[in-house]
Amino acid sequence: MQTDRYSLFALLREAMRGNTGWKPAWRKATPAPTYDYVIVGGGGHGLATAYYLARRYGGKRIAVVEKGWIGGGNVGRNTTIVRSNYLLPGNEPFYECAMKLWEGLEQDINYNAMVSQRGVLNLFHNDAQRGAYIRRGNAMRLHGVDAELLDAQAVRAMVPFLNFDDARFPIRGGLLQRRGGTVRHDAVAWGYARAADRLGVDIIENCEVTVFALKAGGPWGWKPRAALLALASWGWPVRVIPHGWRPWRACACRLKAMCCRRLSAKGSSRLLTVW
Ligand SMILES: Cc1cc2nc3c(=O)[nH]c(=O)nc-3n(C[C@H](O)[C@H](O)[C@H](O)COP(=O)(O)OP(=O)(O)OC[C@H]3O[C@@H](n4cnc5c(N)ncnc54)[C@H](O)[C@@H]3O)c2cc1C
Repeated sequence: MQTDRYSLFALLREAMRGNTGWKPAWRKATPAPTYDYVIVGGGGHGLATAYYLARRYGGKRIAVVEKGWIGGGNVGRNTTIVRSNYLLPGNEPFYECAMKLWEGLEQDINYNAMVSQRGVLNLFHNDAQRGAYIRRGNAMRLHGVDAELLDAQAVRAMVPFLNFDDARFPIRGGLLQRRGGTVRHDAVAWGYARAADRLGVDIIENCEVTVFALKAGGPWGWKPRAALLALASWGWPVRVIPHGWRPWRACACRLKAMCCRRLSAKGSSRLLTVW
């Protein structure tokens, strides 16, 4: 029997039998002819979108198309901080919602993403910064988010190894969010990929989307034929062109055709996505 659910019991069992029972975290999906949702980009955003779509709207056919490998985008090389210590009304509730997701995420997706709520402390070095942090802390608290203003003594008690005595910018205090901390973000991508895969999402790696050729006729003159396509490629350019432009006419066939043909050939890394 292969190990499916990660748990202490599974860990012990695999330790006893030489780790022969672990399954790949997600399938190498064979692209289906059509999908309800196609998400471009297998980073944190794309995979989370796929997972929550599948969980909330079960029965939909969903694919995530990734040009490289899962966890190889920005999600795999960031600073790993998680926090909701923002000032503006639009930001604060949004990031707090994300913080709450982090707090239950590992249980939810059954994956150790190394969420560590060790606290996030922003130091201030002068009165102007102190004023700004007081304002930010108050804004956080007005939104029900934890925020504490620490003086220099409290910061010293918390992180005694900092240079308090002869630093160029002396530490006067800091704004602390205790629930903030760190997460291994690429593990989050792997965890979402695994959880989405279990809900039937097809994760198609090494498959770059280069062009969308849109059908004419809808709003702005374009009318997509697929149900929905989400771009989660973090600013990487994917050209969107209206159907019928001469240089691209050759690409004007359906996503299903391109997916199946290109991928079944030999795991090609080029895919032209066409609606
Ligand atoms: C240096 C740095 C530090 C950061 N620090 C933090 C931090 O401490 N805390 C925090 O929360 N956030 C941080 N961020 C931001 C965070 O990493 C990003 O917001 C997050 O990773 C974005 O996720 P994403 O899924 O949108 O992008 P990505 O993780 O980059 O995923 C996009 C994916 O799309 C794929 N893709 C692109 N084009 C195509 C295409 N044409 N076809 C198919 N696939 C394609 C890419 O290969 C990639 O895998 C940091 C970012 C950077 C760069």
